[in-house]
Amino acid sequence: MANPVLPSSGVLSPLGLDAVRISPGFWGDRVALNREVTIAHCREWEEREGWIGNFRGEGPRRGREFSDSEIYKLLEAMAWADHPDLPELAETVARVQEGDGYINTRWSGSRYTDLEWGHELYCYGHLIQAGVARLRMHGEDRLTRVATRAADHVCRRFMEGTETCGHPVIEMALVELYRVTGVERYLEMARRFVERRGLPALADIPFGRGYFQDDVPVRQAQVFRGHVVRALYLASGVVDVAVETGDEELLKAVEAQWERTVARRTHLTGGMGSRHQDESFGEDYELPPDRAYNETCASIASIMLAHRLLLATGDVRYADLTERTLYNMLATGVALDGRSFFYANPLQVRVPAVPHDGVNHAAEGGLRSPWFDVSCCPNNVARTLASLPAYLATSGADGVRIHQYTPGEISHGDLRLRVETGYPWDGTVTVRVLEGGAGRISLRVPAWASSATLAYQEAAASSPDARETRAVAPGYADVEREWRAGDALVLELPMEPRWTYPDRRIDALRGCVTVERGPLVYCAESVGDEPPLAEVAVRPGAPLSEHARGEVVELETEAVLGASPAGPWPYRDRPHGWNGGPAAALRLIPYHRWGNRGPATMRVWLPVAD
Ligand SMILES: [Zn+2]
Repeated sequence: MANPVLPSSGVLSPLGLDAVRISPGFWGDRVALNREVTIAHCREWEEREGWIGNFRGEGPRRGREFSDSEIYKLLEAMAWADHPDLPELAETVARVQEGDGYINTRWSGSRYTDLEWGHELYCYGHLIQAGVARLRMHGEDRLTRVATRAADHVCRRFMEGTETCGHPVIEMALVELYRVTGVERYLEMARRFVERRGLPALADIPFGRGYFQDDVPVRQAQVFRGHVVRALYLASGVVDVAVETGDEELLKAVEAQWERTVARRTHLTGGMGSRHQDESFGEDYELPPDRAYNETCASIASIMLAHRLLLATGDVRYADLTERTLYNMLATGVALDGRSFFYANPLQVRVPAVPHDGVNHAAEGGLRSPWFDVSCCPNNVARTLASLPAYLATSGADGVRIHQYTPGEISHGDLRLRVETGYPWDGTVTVRVLEGGAGRISLRVPAWASSATLAYQEAAASSPDARETRAVAPGYADVEREWRAGDALVLELPMEPRWTYPDRRIDALRGCVTVERGPLVYCAESVGDEPPLAEVAVRPGAPLSEHARGEVVELETEAVLGASPAGPWPYRDRPHGWNGGPAAALRLIPYHRWGNRGPATMRVWLPVAD
């Protein structure tokens, strides 16, 4: 079973890369681009930066203390993509492994002298995830032996004692290695790492122990806090441990933390993280659009966590958040050419980028960067897109559930299904039975789809009028029967654009609105001499017209262009209104498309005109 996550129990079982084949479409195109372009792009930059050379012992070591992990993330991407370069890169990595399984190009000779910042266990975590991917896609080889030897070394060194790593990820990696090998010490090691954190297990640091979730034991925490990627990787590992040990209390603790975090600490795009300083969550309702951090990796971690919770509980809200995050964060993190990336994903950008020699290393101001000094995001995008089919559908005692819609084929038992759709541009999803069998097919109706319908069309029926159509509410719409080849289910999701308002407790968004259509968040973008966005206001409820540009659906509404006089002081003793600027048509584009036309300003949330 070719899956990044394969729990031994849970309400749902994932259908992996061997059961879900993705074909051209919104995600199929991105998965293909990733395989053909992004993986090679990452490889090229890791060579250029000397991070692969570190494994060859070439000259003084280069890169940050955790750069080994980027090669491991890339190896995981190669494993899922069955990429021909994997064996040679794995051979290069293997050269550095020491006799007892230790492997790190930075800390050899001063092992485990800085668990707070050294990232040694973090690097193993990514190595082990790459090993698991290889085991599931290919079987045992050089890479998988390197990974399991490293895991054995970790168990010998850390099973007793109170230590853990400043950056979680090894927890979920060890549980997955347990799942694929059946070796129980990997699960026990993961369980101990989870239970140690928060006792505390690490030294205090200037950011505070909350930065690496060592402030409170995970069972007692109320909400996700601190460094977002750390928090969400840890929570993913905690779910894995809870599921494999049957620890209901632990699972419930993470569910409650997720619920509060989604209700109070998540941006409309699904992005998480409001603070640049320590890449952390903000407090409840601290969700500034312009200072949003929303690291691309954090969104990937959020997808990993939501997927695990979905498998454990079958609760649709996890699939809903995954959809929001896939379309508005993962798809935004990488440019349409697959060669440049956003690290932070704010919802408002006030100043366009000023590139140097054509490259914008900060990836701010609407111009993605081909690489970063800390290049977690590109490699994380690569491994996630390479394994994306595993996130789309599941099986369970009750049959097949399809959670995310993109063209492709799904096989489970006797059933073989083809999904035909122009989603997310078009709201019609047809699930056609290619090979029949008995069972239930469940289709997710997203939370935003308040007037969806589902039609069943029998193979024998010649006219579409023979369909049985019914209204379906958000959640899962089920049809159970003896399926025959040619039968079809047609889900119609309402794609009318809709105005969206923020909770009034989100101070930074008060007085603003935005627009969504289907799963997509929209934004206004200004490039070159297009009208500036600093003083644009809209009238919620005003008509939103649709304009097709290629396959992309853009929207237009009437806006008011403000014209505030320049003044010496931006405050006064009476309210500031929009003083009657001219009306103008405002073009809105899907947020994930922004930043593909050069340096730009952008805003998702738009002030409401008087
Ligand atoms: Zn990152």
